Amino acid sequence: MMVGILDLTLYELVDAIKNGSLDAEEVLEEYRGSIRKSDGKVKAYITLNDHADGDPRGILAGAPIAVKDNICTKGMRTTCASKMLEGYVPPYDAAVVQRIKGAGGRVIGKTNMDEFAMGSSTEHSAFFPSRNPWDTDRVPGGSSGGSGVAVAAREAVAALGSDTGGSVRCPASFCGVVGLKTTYGLMSRYGLVSFSNSIEQIGPMTRDVRDCALMMNAVSGYDERDGTSLNVDAEDYLSYLANDVKGMRFGVPREFLGDGTDDGVSKAVWRCVNSLESMGARWDEVSLPSVRYALPAYYMIAMSEASSNLARYDGIRYGTREEDEGLDWSSSYSKTRGRGFGKEVKRRIILGTFALSSGYYEAYYIKAQKVRTLIKNEFDRLFKEYDALLGPTMPSPAFRLGEKVDDPLSMYMTDIDTVSINLAGIPALSLPCGFVDGLPVGLQIMAPPLCEGRILTVAKRIEEELRLDLRPPLARG
Ligand code: GLN
Repeated sequence: MMVGILDLTLYELVDAIKNGSLDAEEVLEEYRGSIRKSDGKVKAYITLNDHADGDPRGILAGAPIAVKDNICTKGMRTTCASKMLEGYVPPYDAAVVQRIKGAGGRVIGKTNMDEFAMGSSTEHSAFFPSRNPWDTDRVPGGSSGGSGVAVAAREAVAALGSDTGGSVRCPASFCGVVGLKTTYGLMSRYGLVSFSNSIEQIGPMTRDVRDCALMMNAVSGYDERDGTSLNVDAEDYLSYLANDVKGMRFGVPREFLGDGTDDGVSKAVWRCVNSLESMGARWDEVSLPSVRYALPAYYMIAMSEASSNLARYDGIRYGTREEDEGLDWSSSYSKTRGRGFGKEVKRRIILGTFALSSGYYEAYYIKAQKVRTLIKNEFDRLFKEYDALLGPTMPSPAFRLGEKVDDPLSMYMTDIDTVSINLAGIPALSLPCGFVDGLPVGLQIMAPPLCEGRILTVAKRIEEELRLDLRPPLARG
């Protein structure tokens, strides 16, 4: 196999730019060519950046990085894939974007997503759906679908997504890339147009585990402008990659491998468990009984927070204002919100407003918060005995475009294995762990808060063992 520039990982690319064997401008041109060639088929980007500057001396050395379109970029449109923000150009960079630029990386473009990050397929984008590079009739997952596609289809060397209930891990699983949802508070949310503040985290999406560690080094860390940011010491995540899994204890929650899980997905997960065992780790089947309530609790909390967070888009303070000559304020407000938001966003605002209304608040929102505490306690209990938990990221490989888009419940059900992690605030990584009918599937590695390093160790050992070819047909030239 001829290794071209597009096949290099972020780590290799940075290395080559630093030692002078590759020129950062040549790399950028190669990626732009790749976008011209493939993006018409997979539609990863909403906006491309024609002025992407980078500094070859930084730890990202001019590498082209894609950023989800709900993360603010100074002078570059940040639409959240919504008509409401179609023309919004932020006057500032999000903290993570400042860090990418500060590390010399280039923001090559802004990626497609489900509108305001609500969805699991990218079909709820107000502009167009993205397509899975492994099979363009299938969804890439969501809501950070464009970021998953860009990394898998060689249209960016790495990307950022955001994860409220699985939005980094789901597209990582469906597109065959690595995606990490970090501990709540580890990545600054300053400049993230968040839909559910108490559960949403920004996370890296990369070609392999080492690149994930490198991106973590570049973008994580304390930020005083985000009141939820954790003031913890910076770590070198790359240093965890050489560690061993010998003696580690893993739990495999049976709730993650129940009836709704595709057989091929289960097999791929068990293969990873067995290979960890052969490396000297131990494992037990364990149980997280409250996880069966995770989906309703998650959707109740996410919708309630969305209804309150999105109230600001009234066309007066924020958002695209519709022509309202002669209308009173209430009609103007309804027209702007009626036209600016898509169906899924409206559904969530309406349900969330209902759940928060007086008389129902205790029965729905407070109840969901109690379930959240139960789930968190169950994870804490297991982490006293186990170093990490293992299961699938998604119960199946990527589904077809159109298959679930008109059936919200079946779309929500696909998040069954990811949402409990956000409710508990813990980190979890999706690692490509095999294929089912030629489509990639992901192993989910979950660990206690701030144990991202441990997750990277486990992921690295499995990745080395599996040695999967993760170039989708489209990127094989
Ligand atoms: N699919 C989930 C939802 O629709 C997760 C979204 C996300 O993580 N942003 O809410």
